[in-house]
Amino acid sequence: RELPGDAETGPQTRQVHGALHSPVLPTPVAAPQLLAWSRDVAQLLDLDAAAVDSAEFAQVFGGNRQLPGMQPWAANYGGHQFGHWAGQLGDGRAISLGEIVNRAGQRWELQLKGAGPTPYSRRADGRAVLRSSIREFLCSEAMHHLGVPTTRALCLIGTGEDVVRDMFYDGNAKPEPGAIVCRVAPSFVRFGNFELPASRGDHALLAQLLDFTIRRDFPAIAAAHAPGSEAARIAWFGEVCTRTALMIAQWMRVGFVHGVMNTDNLSILGLTIDYGPYGWIDNFDADWTPNTTDREHRRYRFGQQVQIAYWNLGRLAGAVAPLLSSHDGLHQGLQAYVDTFVAADQATIAAKLGLAECSEDDVALMQSLHALMTDAEVDMTLFFRGLADVDASAGDVAGLRDSFYDEAKYTAAKPAFDAWLQQYAARLAEDGTPLPQRRARMNAVNPRYVLRNYLAQIAIDKAEQGDLSSVHELLDTLRRPYDDQPGREHLAQRRPDWARSRAGCSM
Ligand code: AMP
Ligand code: MG
Ligand code: MG
Repeated sequence: RELPGDAETGPQTRQVHGALHSPVLPTPVAAPQLLAWSRDVAQLLDLDAAAVDSAEFAQVFGGNRQLPGMQPWAANYGGHQFGHWAGQLGDGRAISLGEIVNRAGQRWELQLKGAGPTPYSRRADGRAVLRSSIREFLCSEAMHHLGVPTTRALCLIGTGEDVVRDMFYDGNAKPEPGAIVCRVAPSFVRFGNFELPASRGDHALLAQLLDFTIRRDFPAIAAAHAPGSEAARIAWFGEVCTRTALMIAQWMRVGFVHGVMNTDNLSILGLTIDYGPYGWIDNFDADWTPNTTDREHRRYRFGQQVQIAYWNLGRLAGAVAPLLSSHDGLHQGLQAYVDTFVAADQATIAAKLGLAECSEDDVALMQSLHALMTDAEVDMTLFFRGLADVDASAGDVAGLRDSFYDEAKYTAAKPAFDAWLQQYAARLAEDGTPLPQRRARMNAVNPRYVLRNYLAQIAIDKAEQGDLSSVHELLDTLRRPYDDQPGREHLAQRRPDWARSRAGCSM
């Protein structure tokens, strides 16, 4: 950490050398108000409803007051943004309050996002708008319940202050309500935390971070290898590769597009982190990106996430390479990423189609389905969820009509879909899994409910008018995304036409 004396100079932005984080206090806000909270995360932290409802809670999680033992800090990291080294970035608007060890012995770090400037804020204000905070709060909880590794969110606090953002899609800078999300994870360490000391040739600090990370966050590796050993470091890199592969495979399964996979936004624990301009696939399209600033090159498009994570792991490998006498272990780790992803992807294909296992032909079967869905504009979530309920052997896609966005394209594509269904039916017959089991297998991986971009937008528009009911309804519904929930059919529909070109963008 930086010397304590530096804390007294306040959060002037600066380059911080020789330290991995800086002490900094949240900047108090005018009128902190609890807008929403996750009972699941509160439970993880041994907090009951009374504690969350107290006036003190909003004060603490709005950043106005610290509890005894809290020594807040902002982390120092760098990163590659859109493929280019960006130098020091750091927590520009995130401030960690401390860690809690719960009754089950789990350790959780609590971090406020939007709590005011830090030494890493560069030219920005350290704040977050309600719009982006709702998106982070809802999506991180939704992802968790979908079974995707992610940081969590405890609560959403309105600050009672306005924040001005350049709305680059309409060019108007207008004041918006501010908010703060408390994120929760075992660690918020990113690839970029390693890249920064490496870029400065500070190998002592790099080694300190690496060995600390292994000791604190990778206990199995710490137990199996001597501290600071080459074997421990190689095993660690392999584990990061494996976890990253599993995370990406889950993104692809549910149709999540992160939108800004810069190396400062990839977690060392393989958790989905930094919910900014993310989006959800409506009509299946591997080329789609929600990020309006990436519409030209589409670097972070849905279908390229697998390759980008690999590229990012390459940057992490490069960062830790100076600490190793041989790079063979790093190459093996990268290979483990590929192998783990391929295996996880095949498991996903089998599960989504309801097959006991995935053969080479099944990979091709899924690819041909994806091609058909792309051309005909077919909703990913509705189609796969509905597939369990159609009699494929009838060779008639009419039962899935609801998942098509365009009447003319449906009519044109129907013969090809009917033929695909017949192929699929033949494969199901060969597989032999009884229907109830197959349906259960499919419904466990093909969600009924995801946080469609337009649903989040409706909830945001209402919240900005002071009505949080849709935020609460989405939070509750998305706790059980694989269950059919009577009365909530309106949250499992095609995107309406008015929302067609809406981006997921949010800063
Ligand atoms: P992101 O693209 O969200 O990963 O952010 C990139 C960098 O910009 C990180 O260092 C963030 O902490 C910083 N940043 C983003 N928004 C703000 C803000 N409003 N105030 C200060 N820093 C910010
Ligand atoms: Mg970030
Ligand atoms: Mg961000």
